[in-house]
Amino acid sequence: MQKIKEKANRCEMCTKPGCIVGCPLDNDIKGFIKSVKEENYKEAYNILSKTTVLESVCGRVCPHEKQCQGACLREIKKSPVKIGALEAFVGDLAIKNNWKIRGKTNSAYHVAVVGGGPAGLTCAAFLKKNGINVTIYEKHDHLGGLLYHGIPSFRLPRDITEKTIKKIIDLGIEVKYNEVLGKTITLKQLERKYDAVFISIGANMPNKMKIPGEKLKGVYGGNAFLENKTELDCQDKTIIVLGGGNVSIDVARTVKRKGAKNVIIVYRKEEAELTADLDEVMAAKKDGVKFIFKNNIIKILGKNKVKGVELIKTRYKKVDGKELLENVRGSRHKMDCDYVISAIGSHANRRTMNSLNLELTKNGKIKIDKKGHTSKKKVFAGGDAAGSIGTVAWAARAGRNAAYEIIEYLKKKEGNKNV
Ligand SMILES: Cc1cc2nc3c(=O)[nH]c(=O)nc-3n(C[C@H](O)[C@H](O)[C@H](O)COP(=O)(O)OP(=O)(O)OC[C@H]3O[C@@H](n4cnc5c(N)ncnc54)[C@H](O)[C@@H]3O)c2cc1C
Repeated sequence: MQKIKEKANRCEMCTKPGCIVGCPLDNDIKGFIKSVKEENYKEAYNILSKTTVLESVCGRVCPHEKQCQGACLREIKKSPVKIGALEAFVGDLAIKNNWKIRGKTNSAYHVAVVGGGPAGLTCAAFLKKNGINVTIYEKHDHLGGLLYHGIPSFRLPRDITEKTIKKIIDLGIEVKYNEVLGKTITLKQLERKYDAVFISIGANMPNKMKIPGEKLKGVYGGNAFLENKTELDCQDKTIIVLGGGNVSIDVARTVKRKGAKNVIIVYRKEEAELTADLDEVMAAKKDGVKFIFKNNIIKILGKNKVKGVELIKTRYKKVDGKELLENVRGSRHKMDCDYVISAIGSHANRRTMNSLNLELTKNGKIKIDKKGHTSKKKVFAGGDAAGSIGTVAWAARAGRNAAYEIIEYLKKKEGNKNV
């Protein structure tokens, strides 16, 4: 507790707190830290609960340096208030003491939420808090989405995810597991059965590398690898991971923990251009992950299974005043390896998206307006499936704001059943 108070006491209670502006969820950071300073922890939790239900999760995995902490007054001296740690502390205390999320009595309305990741869970929680009955339809036999089958447990402990989800479901939310939109259930069926539908099915299909050898045994997509917990024998293997984002770092650190001898991340640009968070890059290096920068994989070698990769060096060339990356002629070289895991981005499941008969963006995501409305009147969408910025907090924000919009929609419906 002493350490937490010390952290809280570093907050200067700014008149115009940048941290709140930096938080995708608009959490009242100044307000909750003030309560922590006063040792009124339950009040701190109540303040956070107004805007979020993922305190313990966001406190751990948000890219704080790009969000709240990046906008902290103390960031000027490179020592921001540790807002993430304080939020996680309050969230954990709420779990430990079984502090409930406050809710209103039930109305006669019932909404279906499809997909139980951060967007769906948050939407369901804010609907239920406001008295709307909710049923979540989830493809897997567990909730959490990428909190569970994306972010590795060494960064987000499973029990924290599970207890956070339990607290939300305990509000009285019904869950139907192993239900796949577009397969076991259609959007039309949901539209008929419910007063409104919120779709938050994520976008976790790995992008293809589009190079020869991609279909060989031993080539995996990073997102699918983490989601399906592919039982890969990594013991003493050499594994090449392609990509410079957080997913490639998570994959590399995961296979390292599974016993891989050499784990090498290949990135086509320079180290300074990695899109992964700096902390994560440092942690990967500490784990023994190696990096090869300014190289591209142009071919995966092997007959039936992976034997190695062919790489080519890259460099920047100025064309019409713009710096463009190009392959360097005559710089091809080979490397042996046992597996190749690509982590070069992800997309939504095209078949599912096309089955919905909703207007889509040119990237194949669900087209929504600023308030989460899709092209169908009673259907709303949010999170990665609808092109949110790909973080937990932005997905949660989309879910929460859509919940408020659904409530407005229900209020305006003919024969209002009292929201
Ligand atoms: C490896 C990895 C690490 C990450 N690390 C971080 C991090 O440290 N910090 C951070 O802020 N963000 C991180 N992210 C991004 C973040 O996890 C996502 O932006 C966020 O989870 C998106 O939430 P969502 O609810 O929109 O989708 P998801 O979390 O993908 O949830 C979608 C849910 O819908 C379900 N579903 C899918 N299809 C169907 C269907 N047809 N029918 C029914 N259910 C369906 C899925 O099973 C899942 O439960 C990471 C992502 C990955 C892949």
